[in-house]
Amino acid sequence: MKKAFCVLPSFQNTSPRLRLVCRCQRWYSDDSKKDDTGASRDAARAQMDEAKRLAKESSKQKAPKFDDFGPIYRPTYVPDDPLTADPTKRAIKVLKHQGWELWDAIRGRSPGPGWREARIFPQFCDTLIIGGGIMGSVVAYYLKEKIPEALNIVVVEKDPTYQHAASTNSMGTIRVQFSQPENVKAALYGAEFLRTMKEKLNVYADEPDDVKFNPQGFLFLGTEADVPQMKINHEMQIECGAKVALMTPGRLAARYPWMNLEDIALASYGLEQEGWYDTWKLLYALKKKNLSMGIHYVDGEVIGFENDNQWGDFPEHYISGAGGQKFQRMVRAKVKTHNHGEQRIQFSQAVIAAGHEAAQICELLGIGKPQPGIRVIQCPIEKRKRYIYMFHCPEGPRLSFPILVDPNGLYVRREGINGMYMCSYTPRSNQQEPDPDDPNSGEEFFNNVLWPKLVYRAPVFSKLKLRGSWHTFYDYNYFDQTGIVGPHPYYFNISFACGFSGYGIQHAPAVGHALGELLYEMKYVDIDMTKFEFERFLQYDVVKEVVIV
Ligand SMILES: Cc1cc2nc3c(=O)[nH]c(=O)nc-3n(C[C@H](O)[C@H](O)[C@H](O)COP(=O)(O)OP(=O)(O)OC[C@H]3O[C@@H](n4cnc5c(N)ncnc54)[C@H](O)[C@@H]3O)c2cc1C
Repeated sequence: MKKAFCVLPSFQNTSPRLRLVCRCQRWYSDDSKKDDTGASRDAARAQMDEAKRLAKESSKQKAPKFDDFGPIYRPTYVPDDPLTADPTKRAIKVLKHQGWELWDAIRGRSPGPGWREARIFPQFCDTLIIGGGIMGSVVAYYLKEKIPEALNIVVVEKDPTYQHAASTNSMGTIRVQFSQPENVKAALYGAEFLRTMKEKLNVYADEPDDVKFNPQGFLFLGTEADVPQMKINHEMQIECGAKVALMTPGRLAARYPWMNLEDIALASYGLEQEGWYDTWKLLYALKKKNLSMGIHYVDGEVIGFENDNQWGDFPEHYISGAGGQKFQRMVRAKVKTHNHGEQRIQFSQAVIAAGHEAAQICELLGIGKPQPGIRVIQCPIEKRKRYIYMFHCPEGPRLSFPILVDPNGLYVRREGINGMYMCSYTPRSNQQEPDPDDPNSGEEFFNNVLWPKLVYRAPVFSKLKLRGSWHTFYDYNYFDQTGIVGPHPYYFNISFACGFSGYGIQHAPAVGHALGELLYEMKYVDIDMTKFEFERFLQYDVVKEVVIV
């Protein structure tokens, strides 16, 4: 056949692809080409036949075992950021990695320790949240809620049992009585979150478990010296929308006849939006909701960070005096997973919600190390041991018992209605702190320090029987005892959500909401938390709670 055979009646009207196919048919069927290329084609065909024969033979042999090769070790694959990397280089890197993976799969090889996890471990995320307690989980929820279909959020939690987390070991109370208006507003937001959580946290119309909210007002007792500040606090709380009332000793005596009021000049009582609830159930509901929204929880510990090897100029407008400095951005976290494999995850934003371990995360970032520049300022969070005691006193007051906060740092609440109580203690600045490394349950501490204080306030508690105790840690901010929210002034893609000592759970929804606004709308809209930002430590702005635990 000398000429190509084209089946199409009208060649001009066909698609370009079809025209190309036709042209190829013509070329292959043209015998005139055989002289110069035919010989090599025959040789290639022979080689192909030989390869097929060898493949057939090898398929009859037993497949080699994994041990025949032994594991091979390759450096952890970290893909480049799709937004900033050169697309060609990135595509080559991805293809090369996938090629190696395919090759390993064909040969039955393991590409090194942690290889199984490497396949399921998320390599990128928009926001990385360090710590999956209530704070981290609420922040994840609010961020995801902002842009549900687009944001990729990963929460890294080193202890998925939450055995030592403050979130699951706390007193689970909520109060609106603070001395900073931002804290009152945050508390009111937290109360509203609890009220509406069934709608917020339902998963495909399946309501979350009831957190068993138990309404009960806080009663803050004050001495003569506390009265002026208590009155200021009261006015501000009313202005913010809290429902609170001041009580004179006369009213207190009529309402709580069992109480010793010798040293008490005034009290402040919460009429609404205060009480306690089951924090385990709240955490469970949050995680369930988050997983349903596509938030990824990773079991692992953040053990380091990596920067992008680029130096940027510090924007002069960002923080006064910092212009002209160079900075590096952290873009990857190193995560130690449970079988000791080490993975990398690239992030655009990160949030530190690691409770009392937030300072360790800051150390990994180099914050607080002796060096020139802003990073020399430490993150002022340390762990402070707090005991919680359960005691039984059937003779004690029942339903009318408030959540009592004594001026000496003791706080007590009822647990059920059978004479069980729960108490804890925050030492005043001049009093001794419990030793954080003492492993015992603190019975001695109860007998020597707390019991006398309990008996002084309510003599009926002399008959109590201690039923149990446990301890957990405050994420205590030793600078001004107030939370830290928002970006670090140097690593402005890394934000804080920690340092709330004894009220982190109730404030978590407000912090989550505020961070959602700041990270994705670039400003606070509903809840302004500028006052709580890390920058205050640079300027020595103390934001202290007064006459409040
Ligand atoms: C005795 C006591 C009573 C309290 N009572 C109340 C109360 O009544 N009401 C209230 O609102 N608050 C209360 N609090 C405070 C409250 O418990 C905390 O502020 C809050 O739980 C903090 O939440 P979080 O998620 O930040 O911390 P946590 O619950 O401690 O969670 C932090 C998580 O981060 C993880 N983590 C740490 N480091 C890493 C790492 N490197 N990599 C990965 N994960 C890491 C930890 O495993 C942990 O699970 C109380 C605290 C104490 C100690």
